[in-house]
Amino acid sequence: MNVHDSERMAGLLEQAGFEATSDAADADVVVINTCSVREHAEDKLYTRLGELRVLAAERGHDPVVAVTGCVAQQEGGGLAKRLPGVTDVIVGTQAIRRLPMLVQEAAERPGARVPLVDINPYEDVSFPLGIARRSDPVRAYVTIIEGCNEFCSFCVVPYTRGHERMRPKADILADVREAVASGRSEVQLLGQIVNHYQAPDDPSCSFTDLVETIHQIEGLRRIRFASPHPRHFSTRFLQAMKTLPKVCRHLHMPVQSGSTRVLQAMRRRHTREHYLELVAEIRETLPDVALSTDMIVGFPGETDADFDDTMSLVERAQFHNIFSFKYSPRPNALASKRMPDDVPEPVKTERIVALQALQRTIQTSLNAQLVGQTVEVLVDTASRRRDTELSGRTSQNIVVNVPGPVETIGQYVPVRVERSSAYSVWGRRIEHDPRSGAASAEREQAPVLPGERHVD
Ligand code: SF4
Repeated sequence: MNVHDSERMAGLLEQAGFEATSDAADADVVVINTCSVREHAEDKLYTRLGELRVLAAERGHDPVVAVTGCVAQQEGGGLAKRLPGVTDVIVGTQAIRRLPMLVQEAAERPGARVPLVDINPYEDVSFPLGIARRSDPVRAYVTIIEGCNEFCSFCVVPYTRGHERMRPKADILADVREAVASGRSEVQLLGQIVNHYQAPDDPSCSFTDLVETIHQIEGLRRIRFASPHPRHFSTRFLQAMKTLPKVCRHLHMPVQSGSTRVLQAMRRRHTREHYLELVAEIRETLPDVALSTDMIVGFPGETDADFDDTMSLVERAQFHNIFSFKYSPRPNALASKRMPDDVPEPVKTERIVALQALQRTIQTSLNAQLVGQTVEVLVDTASRRRDTELSGRTSQNIVVNVPGPVETIGQYVPVRVERSSAYSVWGRRIEHDPRSGAASAEREQAPVLPGERHVD
């Protein structure tokens, strides 16, 4: 979501006449888009601002510095006090449309160093169509929901991104069509809880209906989304997914803990049992799906027994990937106000090391099962070192490394997997897949559509 906000801000600045440069030492304006979901992410802002101050002192280069995103929303004018004399503009998450205007204003009063602050909630989730300067050559992010009403006790999002607002279905469809027209054949639908979607301009349109409608867009080949909430998952959606071949066989479904007791303290409104039942239903309906999740260790009051529950849930669910974090209190979040951060740091470290070791074993084994199989890969990246080394992703979101020319980026290629590690697999492109492997099956379900760049 933050990446997409950056794309939208880059587009707004471009529309106002600015040009992007890759070197901060060259820039007249530096925008730092921030994340405050973890303390570590927030600390990076202060490091970056410190670097800019050094740059200004050493080279006499003093660009307009704008801080945007969740830390800006959270800290407001107080942000400038922590590192005075660096920041010129502070824009919250809901006011990014005003960024170009504020930057212009700051540029016209050099040396003032009193930051212009706009953190007012701006509730219009629409943006001019095509405004995002998309950074990914093959896939497009498309926001469907902003904000969240869940108030999980560890989470800062409802305070930084505001309450839940659904984007009109008409805007979403226009955005997807524009992305496809720009040559991107994969979209990723974004929202804090995507499966809570209800179109404001069509009350009968749920998330399932929206995905079914997007599925009909010609030229679109893959649909991803992040993230669904376990408590809003419906059997109807799973059944629909089964019949919609463009919907990728990957579900990122945050669980956060394997202990029902901790989940209750987190205000997650789902239990360990419900989550595991859901996993079983998903596996039965969509046997080829890859699951991933988010996990927090060391939440206040987490005992060894609670952590054992987390480990056993991970073993049972067999995730392809886990984003795991040590708990850190976040400003405004309920847990930071009401629950002491009582799990000692060494215990948090011990638990996260154990969790990551278990997960590494699981994903090593899952990736090893791909060796000898043929998978369909959307090539998206060339290696920085050698442009004959490419990588891409399968429908299951598994990273596949494959040799080939850089022109292959944006194409779907069948790859025979030859070796694997915990984090990705390597293979060779094959011209024809004589077997009835996964890639063939997927191609049969998803015929080549007019205007697609499909090479096999
Ligand atoms: S569902 Fe919970 S964790 Fe996710 S954004 Fe909303 S409050 Fe945060």
